[in-house]
Amino acid sequence: MIDLNKLSKLSKEYGVDIPQERLRYFDVVASQLVEKNKLYNLTAITDPDEILTKHIIDSLTLVPVLNDVVESGEVLDVGTGAGFPGIVAALAADNLHFSLLDSIEKKTNYLSELIEELSDAFSQAPDVYCARAEELSRMEEYREQFDVCTSRAVASLNCLIELCVPFIKKGGHFIAMKGKNADAELEEAANAISALSIRLVKTHSIILPDGSERYILDFVKEAETDEKYPRRAAAIKKRPL
Ligand code: SAM
Repeated sequence: MIDLNKLSKLSKEYGVDIPQERLRYFDVVASQLVEKNKLYNLTAITDPDEILTKHIIDSLTLVPVLNDVVESGEVLDVGTGAGFPGIVAALAADNLHFSLLDSIEKKTNYLSELIEELSDAFSQAPDVYCARAEELSRMEEYREQFDVCTSRAVASLNCLIELCVPFIKKGGHFIAMKGKNADAELEEAANAISALSIRLVKTHSIILPDGSERYILDFVKEAETDEKYPRRAAAIKKRPL
């Protein structure tokens, strides 16, 4: 379905070397997305070339950043939807174990089926959770358990920080994938950054093949999360930090 030579070439340009024999797994991601889209309502992007650049290559830009901050460990993708960036990054970063979280059951059912389809691709298959982030991180077995938490296209940065940071171990990283308004979102998130004790380590700026701007914000978590966070969904939305 997707042009695998183009995938191989572009991924190298973005710093990810995918072995030839693994390229077909990314084609499974694209073809399942299109095939199951009607049933599960997963994406507005269905053109193969756009899936390649806007979903697969965009997700792959996370991989060098992950490899910069951890050699092994647990990564959580919050609001993963149809598995972006989580499933794509998991296929390209076998040194890490991924957990994929979304609150919509249709999407997590789809992901479980996709992972089954990709079963020979992983040494350790990703875990899938259907829950709201602000509820799951209140449970002891998930709170401050992850080395990295990442997220793309889920909420404004100030809300996202409250949703993601409680999952991360002290010393771990929060990696937010953002579009062209990253600077404004950063300014608006000053209070959330301080309340959740994170510090911006690096901003990676990326131009996708279609010319669109992306920013990957890498934060380190400097202290344990105060018990009062995250607040309930309504409070996060009504009174963002
Ligand atoms: N990350 C994917 C991507 O970039 O293609 C999906 C983006 S989609 C616009 C946002 C997703 O976040 C939806 O699937 C939604 O169900 C999920 N989501 C929003 N708020 C959430 C929360 N509080 N907990 C878990 N999932 C959430």
